[in-house]
Amino acid sequence: MSTERIRNVVILGGGTAGWMCAALLSRTFANTVSITLVESDALGTVGVGEATIPPIQTFNRALKIDEAEFIRETNATIKLGIEFRDWGRIGDRYMHAFGELGHHHGLSPFIHYFLRGKAAGRDESLWDFSLNERAALAGKFGKLPRIDGTPLAGLNYAYHFDATLYAAYLRKLAEAGGVVRREGKVAKVERRAKDGFVARLLLEDESTIEGDLFVDCSGFRSLLIGDAMEVPFLDWSHWLPCDRALAVQSENIAQPKPFTVAKAHAAGWQWRIPLQHRTGNGHVYCSAAMGDDEAARVLLDNLEGPAIGEPRQLRFQTGRREKFWDRNVVAIGLSSGFLEPLESTSIHLIQSAVGKLAKLFPSADFDPSLEREFNRQMVSEFERIRDFIILHYHANERTDSDFWKDRAAMPVPETLTRRMELFRQSGRVFREEDDLFHEVAWNQVLIGQNIWPRTYDHMADALDEAEFNEFLDNLKIIMGGAVSRLPDHSQFLASLGAKL
Ligand code: FAD
Repeated sequence: MSTERIRNVVILGGGTAGWMCAALLSRTFANTVSITLVESDALGTVGVGEATIPPIQTFNRALKIDEAEFIRETNATIKLGIEFRDWGRIGDRYMHAFGELGHHHGLSPFIHYFLRGKAAGRDESLWDFSLNERAALAGKFGKLPRIDGTPLAGLNYAYHFDATLYAAYLRKLAEAGGVVRREGKVAKVERRAKDGFVARLLLEDESTIEGDLFVDCSGFRSLLIGDAMEVPFLDWSHWLPCDRALAVQSENIAQPKPFTVAKAHAAGWQWRIPLQHRTGNGHVYCSAAMGDDEAARVLLDNLEGPAIGEPRQLRFQTGRREKFWDRNVVAIGLSSGFLEPLESTSIHLIQSAVGKLAKLFPSADFDPSLEREFNRQMVSEFERIRDFIILHYHANERTDSDFWKDRAAMPVPETLTRRMELFRQSGRVFREEDDLFHEVAWNQVLIGQNIWPRTYDHMADALDEAEFNEFLDNLKIIMGGAVSRLPDHSQFLASLGAKL
């Protein structure tokens, strides 16, 4: 049994990825591993990434972060879901709301009761059974893990926050946990001749940083996994051709809403992310289908409040590295790949990768089985999220631009085709091992974009008609009552000392 431990971990990059990694590894391996993080203030960070999904709560809890302090320090608001506007058809809207829909009855997922109701002529929407959407649209939020006195799930939530403030907050925690920050620009990476492992980083000031394990958090520059290790990049732009974003902040003209908006445009879409003190906006677009000037005009025409400063452009390519871990280099964050922020998954992928690295933390012999397993899990997770994002583009009936017609006509990965066919046929979605998004998430996007199953599960017929109608009616009454008792979202934030 090899007992020789890794002693020195070097993290290259101090964006969200670098500091999330530093904070979690220092807490996990306190006093047994020395961690150095090198970053360059002159290069800066990507500076976007403000919407998250509910598992971020698990990450914050693992770091023993006090939620109220975190909300104050990062100007955070609550996120109950994402409202999609104009995706299936212009004029459509639906929400990918977090949390449950309705309530499981027997063995059949709730959606089959909803579908039975539709078949019987009941006139209601799937989201009448979403506590999250009802609270989001009413601008309400309170801590409600269950609806009082019932077995019904309560609100599930994530945050919108200022990404720069979050990285600074994590930096404080990581440095308190012993992480040493080095300021400087890495000019060269030296590899060992015998096995190709990275040996040291050379900084512009000619100092060096040696390490056993190197975590590449260098962002789109991908200095270690890309430039030094030469791991190829797998391009997914034939499925997801958006390659630019223009980001701009705007003034809040009303109290922040507890949900993100993703509004489709002629060649992409625009996000609206409300924080306590301002709103983040960005237009993600396909440069082959729309010029930069027009993209900027569309962005500015669709702001709710006055813009703060000029739009800033970001360029990217969708895809992933063939491997995320190669010898003694592990890539986390934008250095490892990119999926557009339509479902706010990048920060989650960082969290997931850091967690997996902690669980598969190597000894000094770097047994290849660890690298293989890490890569298997990360590839699977990336690809399932990719499919979910492609679904939003593919399941459209828009005829207003070639961009949308091409997305509807394009061949999609076989894994997605299989899911769509099964849903059309049976209303079933099966969650696979590494799926981040569960059935309820897929159900909302599929139905929200007008893909309806041909039938519903026969198990949903087990209730007689009177029981069935009472079951659905009661759910709506209980949810309506629960929402009416919640405080306003802004009241909730103010009670924690937020600046509104
Ligand atoms: P960066 O923030 O770019 O950090 C790279 C670091 O490496 C910097 O500290 C830099 O100084 C350092 N570095 C690079 N080269 C050198 C060198 N030679 N020497 C020393 N240091 C170096 N994610 C979400 O979860 N939700 C969102 O809503 C969301 N929106 C996004 C919108 C857009 C348009 C884009 C492009 C991304 C979005 N993301 C979002 C992704 C999110 O921004 C990133 O996943 C996250 O910020 C992590 O970035 P990073 O730390 O990998 O890279």
